[in-house]
Amino acid sequence: MTTFVINERDRFPQTRVEISGRWLFGPGPSNADPRILAAMSLPPIGHLDPDFLTLMNESQSLLRYAWQTENPMTIPVSGTGSAAMEATLANTVEPGDVVLVAVKGYFGHRLVDMAGRYGADVRKITKPWGEVFNLEELSLAIEIHKPAILAIVHAETSTGVRQPLEGLGEICRANNCLLLVDTVTSLGAVPIFLDKWGIDLSYSCSQKGLGCPPGIGPFTMSPRAVEKMQNRATKVANWYLDMSLLSHYWGNDRTYHHTAPINMNYAVREALYLLAEEGIENSWKRHQENAESLWTGLEELGLECLVDKAYRLPTLTTVRVPDGLDAKAIATKLRIEYNMEIGLGLGELAGKVWRIGLMGYNSKPEKVLLLLAALKKVLKP
Ligand SMILES: *Cc1c(COP(=O)(O)O)cnc(C)c1O
Repeated sequence: MTTFVINERDRFPQTRVEISGRWLFGPGPSNADPRILAAMSLPPIGHLDPDFLTLMNESQSLLRYAWQTENPMTIPVSGTGSAAMEATLANTVEPGDVVLVAVKGYFGHRLVDMAGRYGADVRKITKPWGEVFNLEELSLAIEIHKPAILAIVHAETSTGVRQPLEGLGEICRANNCLLLVDTVTSLGAVPIFLDKWGIDLSYSCSQKGLGCPPGIGPFTMSPRAVEKMQNRATKVANWYLDMSLLSHYWGNDRTYHHTAPINMNYAVREALYLLAEEGIENSWKRHQENAESLWTGLEELGLECLVDKAYRLPTLTTVRVPDGLDAKAIATKLRIEYNMEIGLGLGELAGKVWRIGLMGYNSKPEKVLLLLAALKKVLKP
């Protein structure tokens, strides 16, 4: 008789961690609106169920509203922001294409890494972390490198910078170049006019400005970008994110590609309805006003923001760590004593800043007061 080795029950963890929630004032995820959590707990239905297909159409229209675009190819990708980020490059980059990346923080480097993996001839221009590019610098780089795609981050979550984009789309068009913009920390919270600004490719996530749990990556591509994809000599090297295949599920044929994460799609639809009910301009205004109260409160505590006010993101504020203070120890104290999360510096800014997020459901006056009060307690005990 064969004897099987049975895993002993006492090898299982003897305790289980209790998840009771936290105030999420870091770079994401942010806290989710209870209406979104309720939507997530609805029973799953089939990914080809007529009701689900209707829900997909609703989400697509709502996403177009959030981005201010008419792009037919606008979908919530199954996966986090990085999946949608990868989708923009995977579908449009052909081996040997010049991709110019304007790097001014951590996520610019991620774009460089991804573009290289799809065989792009990657060129890079850089700025110190905490600064933005001006139009002349970008224009000159386009003239020099003649890229097929220019990639740039709108809201750089590692530095707290908002990159101005007006005028860039025209320059890209005049140079036969697609404009790819990361709007992960701006969608729903910071003004974006995708079509007006001539942006061809963009992606975002569910868990930052939209105030939904992580798991969905909004994605959009302009007709120009679709044309580049359709003229490819080679197949898209990523099966899962191939928009020429996915367009059959999200388009009229409704053919199976992969099983959509049903409950995450309930969640993101709810988040987008919340945004539409509030009105996108009101959401932009709310994020700006609450960020300004935060900045005033930080100043009153003797703290200084890294980024010039003109380019400061309302969704993510980088705060300089005063000399002699241990950034991580303060963040840990906030978590243990006040159940609050804030972010630490990344890359060049490690140890030098804290990153405070006020996104979606968390961008509220009472939460700003709560956060400032707790910060005061841990900084000036
Ligand atoms: C968070 C973030 C991403 C990555 O999104 P994930 O959901 O973490 O995969 C990309 N770009 C920027 C600017 C981000 O802030």
